[in-house]
Amino acid sequence: MPFNVDRDKLPPDVQLIFVDGSHDTLSSALLSSLQDQTFNFQQCHSLVEANQALSDHHQNFLLIPIEHSIPNTLFRLQTQDPLTGAGNRQHFYHQLTHSLKYLSDSEALSLLIIDIDNFSEFNHQYGHDVGDKLVALIADRLDSCPGKNDLCRIGNDEFTLLVRAPLSHIKQKTRKVIEQLIDVLLPAYEVNEHEIHLHCSIGVAMAPDHSHEFDDLIRYANTARLRAKKLRGHSYAIFDTHYDLDDQQTIRLEPELWQALQKRQFRLYYQPRICLTTHRVVGAEALIRWEHPTQGMIPPDEFIPISEKSGLIVPIGYWVVEQVGKDMQRLQAAGLPEHIGVNLSFRQFQDGYLSSTIERLIKRHQIDTRQLEFELTETALFRDEPHVVYCMESLNQLGAEFSLDDFGTGYSSFAMLQKLPIATLKIDKSFVAGIGQSEGDEEIVRSIISLARNLNKKVIAEGVETHEQLSFLKTHGCLLAQGYYFSRPIPLESFIQRLQDPDWIPAP
Ligand code: C2E
Ligand code: CA
Ligand code: CA
Repeated sequence: MPFNVDRDKLPPDVQLIFVDGSHDTLSSALLSSLQDQTFNFQQCHSLVEANQALSDHHQNFLLIPIEHSIPNTLFRLQTQDPLTGAGNRQHFYHQLTHSLKYLSDSEALSLLIIDIDNFSEFNHQYGHDVGDKLVALIADRLDSCPGKNDLCRIGNDEFTLLVRAPLSHIKQKTRKVIEQLIDVLLPAYEVNEHEIHLHCSIGVAMAPDHSHEFDDLIRYANTARLRAKKLRGHSYAIFDTHYDLDDQQTIRLEPELWQALQKRQFRLYYQPRICLTTHRVVGAEALIRWEHPTQGMIPPDEFIPISEKSGLIVPIGYWVVEQVGKDMQRLQAAGLPEHIGVNLSFRQFQDGYLSSTIERLIKRHQIDTRQLEFELTETALFRDEPHVVYCMESLNQLGAEFSLDDFGTGYSSFAMLQKLPIATLKIDKSFVAGIGQSEGDEEIVRSIISLARNLNKKVIAEGVETHEQLSFLKTHGCLLAQGYYFSRPIPLESFIQRLQDPDWIPAP
């Protein structure tokens, strides 16, 4: 029986016959996709019946027994990309519209668009034959990942994958799939004796979070993919209304932000860090806010992404270091905690004067650098590794420490963690939020704690909100925490008051 028939080579009057008794074996998706096709099809209950059908019709028939391979066989005929065996564009369209249509209220779906960086250069350098082989190899590797039934090739070097999960788990599951994807794509490719290293950029959009519409999801995943593409190495970005703002909004807000800096409308709040063994405040994270004259206190998520986009984060970031320096002098009298964490955005590392300017500010405000800790994310590390490493090392030589923020959400290698002057890992609050709710999140929290222990680094849990989370963290050896359970970020005066009155800390 002709299983591997190329659809294009089939005569137009070909009919499909399915040999099977039960209608159930034909999934509703298969049936609806059949109805969309020009093929005629008929279902038979036995080979005898099929033979009868064949002789009755006197036409060309393609006889397909219904078993597990059948839906695949059929899809292959109609919807397969011939080069890679992944679904083609048409299949992707069916798959996404169908999935969106049947998404229940408790379910969510992530659309991943995976794009190979600089693929046209490979084609140009090695020729299209190597390019084709490379695409096939990439597809093979992607195919070894979970959700592989959903893999489609929608462009020359562009693949899509759908991830489905209950609403509350979708982010976590998506991140896991992305890590697995990056893992399989990582090793070099050997094609015609060439050893090829490549990177991918993955953009993600989620239903229902971002949209329930087919076109929106594709647009949003593509916007996120373009953001990921700006990062070095394998990278991914999840669509975020704050980051993926259109340029108009950036242009509109930029002068306002500049004015905010001139008019001294930014404020620093401090969120205490608690040692879970001594039950004392051992540090704080400095978090910026914008005291807008008419709109009240604006949180950083609403203006940091715009200032990163426009470059204004550079002067804003210096203002933060300067303000921390001044605040530290006031904190000295109140019994300065061990460390004050200052967030550094990836964009600040693109400023060639970062370390020299910070050094100047340190001297001007006589900052005790042993008490200064810079928080940076894994994403910042990957943008421009050599330069970031250079900045980190020079600031480290001045005595400042580094912590890796939102740890677990990015993609750090073991080697990198060992190589860099990183003293602390900060467990991302999304995993802490999953304690008591998701075994996967608990496993991640436990793994980060033991990773930190093995690498001889400190570990802080952020976003601790409940007693249950606190007990879990303590049981598993995470001894530093910050979060609403203890305190929200508060103005300097309130923080000083709290330093002087240790009884405010809630009972363990
Ligand atoms: P981040 O560095 O991850 O900061 C932690 C965020 O989690 C803070 O939000 C904090 O208020 C919030 N948080 C703390 N405890 C809890 C909790 O128990 N539950 C929940 N749900 N949230 C908690 P915030 O202050 O809105 O800051 C948001 C982000 O803005 C920061 O995330 C950081 O990426 C950025 N940011 C803040 N200040 C600065 C700054 O001075 N410079 C730069 N470059 N970025 C900053
Ligand atoms: Ca932080
Ligand atoms: Ca964080």
